[in-house]
Amino acid sequence: MFDIQNLLRKNIRDLHPYSSARDEFQGAASVYLDANENPYDTGLNRYPDPLQMEVKSKIGRLKNVFPEQIFLGNGSDEAIDLLIRAFCEPGLDNIVAMKPTYGMYKVCADVNGVEYNEVLLGRDFNLLVDDMLDAANAWTKLIFICSPNNPTGNSLAEVDILQLLDRFEGIVVLDEAYIDFAEQKTLLSKLNDYPNLVILQTFSKAWGMAGIRLGMAFGSIEIIKVLNNIKYPYNVNVLTRDKALAKLDSPKKVEEQIKEIIEERFKLVAELEKLAYVTKIYPSDANFVLVQVKDAKAVYNYLLKHEIIVRDRSKVALCEGCLRITIGTEEENKNLIEKLKKY
Ligand SMILES: *Cc1c(COP(=O)(O)O)cnc(C)c1O
Repeated sequence: MFDIQNLLRKNIRDLHPYSSARDEFQGAASVYLDANENPYDTGLNRYPDPLQMEVKSKIGRLKNVFPEQIFLGNGSDEAIDLLIRAFCEPGLDNIVAMKPTYGMYKVCADVNGVEYNEVLLGRDFNLLVDDMLDAANAWTKLIFICSPNNPTGNSLAEVDILQLLDRFEGIVVLDEAYIDFAEQKTLLSKLNDYPNLVILQTFSKAWGMAGIRLGMAFGSIEIIKVLNNIKYPYNVNVLTRDKALAKLDSPKKVEEQIKEIIEERFKLVAELEKLAYVTKIYPSDANFVLVQVKDAKAVYNYLLKHEIIVRDRSKVALCEGCLRITIGTEEENKNLIEKLKKY
């Protein structure tokens, strides 16, 4: 039977978490003399709710999960770091992840002194479940996977993800940062079937709020409780909270922008196909495309000279010769194509 107590680091299992003033009194009162705040109202003089229940109840309704299944942090990056800190004993435990993928998993593992083992994706950037499991051992606490994957852009097959969840005894962290752009559905509905599943999403991409730094982790109530116990007490500030609340009240605009961005992606791909020096365009389920060109460095520098910045991924394993291009506004994409045609 899956029991997260057996996976947690001992110091985390035994932790007595910090209890803030706002943890100890949660009701409404007219006079607050419990937290050493400045009493003069500026709209910002009070500490925020440490568990962000108002934001979580809106997200919960939107995504059909319980608020207690949601962790909110300073970007998804906070959740990545906390998961590693909760489950991986430095110098002893390890992580398995696919390659190529998002760079922060490895950076967080390195910062925490946790071994990080990479497993190459297949020919179509598909998940090789057997290879991932072969790379895991008794000390593997976490497997990180990313779908749609950055920088390749493809979604992983749902059957492969579910097979990994079935066969791995530790925690599978599925990063769905780009899920709002994807044809493929989120696996949030599987949370109740798989106690070892943690899903990451973010306000940074489709939601258009990279600047407020707000990331989400979804998991069992038990796992989320652990993340809440080890986070900084007030990790999401009042300004971020208020911007998120306002955005969650008007999701229509976001939906329109997502449609527009996907439409623009199809247009951009169609134009890229006409360029002789473009040797491959990988299928994308995200808001960027991975494009292989004849001389990536030269194309990158040419665009740079024209003040267009794309991401050079040409040195990344399996992405040799590739640039990663984010989908911009219609005007920006037109400008890009115009410049690429003149290259
Ligand atoms: C952009 C991105 C994130 C977002 O990180 P935040 O800290 O929430 O901004 C997470 N995962 C992947 C794969 C990304 O590409």
